[in-house]
This record gives sequence, structure tokens and C-alpha cells, in this order.
Amino acid sequence: MIVPAGSGTRRGRGSSRLLRTADVGAANRARVLQALADHGPLSRADLARLADVPRATIGSIVANLLASGVLEETAPRRQASGAGKPARPLWFGADVGLTGGVLVRPGTIETAVVSTSGEIVSRGASPFAVSASRADLDRQLVSAAAAVLRPYRGRLVGTGVAMPASCDGETGEVVACTPVPGLVGTRLPALLRRATGVPVVLEEDARALAVGQRWFGQARGVDDFVAVQIGAGIGAGIMLDGRLYRAGPATSEIGHTCVDIRGERCRCGLTGCWETIASLRWLRREAVARRLRAGRTLTPGGLVERAGDPAVADLLDTYADHVAVGIANLVQLLSLRVFILHGEVVGGGEPLRLLIERAVVRRTLPVLAGAVRVEFAALDQDAGLLGAAAAALTKELAIVA
Ligand SMILES: [Zn+2]
Repeated sequence: MIVPAGSGTRRGRGSSRLLRTADVGAANRARVLQALADHGPLSRADLARLADVPRATIGSIVANLLASGVLEETAPRRQASGAGKPARPLWFGADVGLTGGVLVRPGTIETAVVSTSGEIVSRGASPFAVSASRADLDRQLVSAAAAVLRPYRGRLVGTGVAMPASCDGETGEVVACTPVPGLVGTRLPALLRRATGVPVVLEEDARALAVGQRWFGQARGVDDFVAVQIGAGIGAGIMLDGRLYRAGPATSEIGHTCVDIRGERCRCGLTGCWETIASLRWLRREAVARRLRAGRTLTPGGLVERAGDPAVADLLDTYADHVAVGIANLVQLLSLRVFILHGEVVGGGEPLRLLIERAVVRRTLPVLAGAVRVEFAALDQDAGLLGAAAAALTKELAIVA
């Protein structure tokens, strides 16, 4: 059962719009779904409060949503007081439908079918030639994604596609894509929709990570945080007051903010970008320059493993500091405190996380530094795919994100 997009008011929180009586039910229902997406699984009492729906009517709204399979009761949770019947938090039911998630990275396309609880039901991955023409890329990507999604025809609510590209949310067109320039101008959503029969939404990969973290990850119920992708390049999805910060089709390009005015030229054409001193490319180049063993293939995980060697430990400290400088800039700019890191950096585990967090605190004004938390994404391997699926789920349930 799919909740039709646009049902009721989408500006859930504290809307003062006058509603006709016939609309009130739909509006309350939309608020209930929005509150769950914002806060994660909730008891009826918490749901009534957070959705701003009268206690007297929450029972019948929830009963209808349970009867239609949109919501389900999850395993009982004991009340904090220890008294009374244990609460059974409500969450989206399996009958909402499955969602497709497609993650395009330079040279690889991954596709998954994802449940409302974030379980991957089916998946596939195929290589593609980055240098192919646009027509060729369209053909290869659509056929690879459709091969995984087609068997679920009729059970899919929608599909989300995440890629390292600026995308026009209205037309679904790729506006800019540095890693795969051949994709500029492509309208993958329309092509994939034709092949699979369900709506398709396109989202920049770092933004999709933020949406995925909120639906399925450690940011469930967290209103303000940044998902930061740190690997070959750097990108960020910023969640402010529970809404994804969107700067139109052009993404906010934190990886290309200047951290060294006399720095080296970046692949974007500017100089001294954060990416030039904190990406995996920098780490490997630096390891080679410092004559470290196997520097060309070094990973953050390898760096931590070999940190007994003082030369490696020194590079580890510098890398952590370089990652931290951009995060500290985000703290000072937006006063945000929670940063969930994704990408190769996560391979460095707790030792690297701690070094980065300490360096962020050191580089931040004391008035802001107190509550800074740098976390590594627990979903890491599948975060991109889940984020793509979450973008589609958000759209099809008419959730505001
Ligand atoms: Zn740059």
C-alpha cells in the first residue's frame, strides 16, 4: 500500500493553514508519518505529542494505518518507569513496499532492493566504462539497474539513484558530474522509470547519505548533523532542523573550500581545496613522498595498523588533522556538532575517529567545541545504497526532508 504523494499538508510542523474538515484526517495522517520519519519508531503517546495530533484521535488514525499495513507495531519496549504495559513502538510496515536503491560510482553501478527497515533484499553490481558516450552510459546503467529491480515489479514503491553529481531535482537531469563527465545531460530517472515502471528520484550521493542516515542509520531522530563522505573526493549532506539543506541543483561543495591559499591546484581548477589535503589521493601521494612502504596503495586502515612505526604515526596524525580542518570549518560556520563520516576514512576505526575528533575540537572555538561528536558510519558498506533507497522512500511517502 502506497501513501499517495501530496496527501494532506506536507509542511507538517505547526502548520497554521486552515483545513476543511475533509482534509483534517489526511493532514493528521501526513503529520503522523512525518513524525515517524523525523523521530524514528514511536509509541502512540509520543507520536500524538510529536505529530501534534490530539490524543483523542491518534488511536483511530493509527488503527487505520495499521489496518492498511502502512504502519506496524515493532517489538515491545519496556517503559522507563518499569510500570504498566510495555510500549510497542510504531514503524513503517513491510506493506508500504520495497524501494530500489541505485548507487553510481566511477566505473561501478550497484543496485539493491531495500525494505522499510533498511534490510537489503536483493542486490547486484556491474562495472561500466567511465569514458563511454552518454548514450552508451545510459544503456549500460539502465540495463544493470533494471536487471536487479525488474523481478520486484509491482512490489516497488519507487527507486532512488545516488551519484557524485549535481542533479536538477525538478527535471531529473544530471547538471554536472566531474568523475563521469559523460553523464552530464542524462535523464536517468525518466529512462529508469520507463524500464521499471516506478517513479525514480535522483540525488547527489553525499545528500543521499544524510537521508539514509536519518531513515536507517545512527542519525535516526537527530535533527542537525552532517554526513561527510571522505574518500577519493570529499562531499557533505547537511541536515538542518530535520531538513536536508539544498542549494538547488548545485550541491554545496565543502570539499572545494580553500584551506590553504598557497595550496596546490585541485582537480576542480581552484587551489588549496580541502580535498587536496584530506582525500585518499593526498594520503597516498604523501606516503610515497615520505618513502613509506606500499604508499601507493595505503588506506586509512593500513595507516592505523602500522602506527607502531613513528613515520607512519606521524602521517596518521597529519591525515587526521587534515580531515579535521574541514569539519572544524563546518562547526564554526553552522554551529553543527554531529558529523557522521563515510568512505575510506572509516577503515581507520576508533583510533582514527578519536584523532579526528580531538583535532576538530582543537581547531574549533571553545564556545562551539564542547559537544562536537565525530562518528564513523556503522552502515558504511551499504550507506550509499540505503541512502538512495531512502531518498525514494521520502519522496513517495511525501515526507519532507
Ligand atoms: Zn577543488
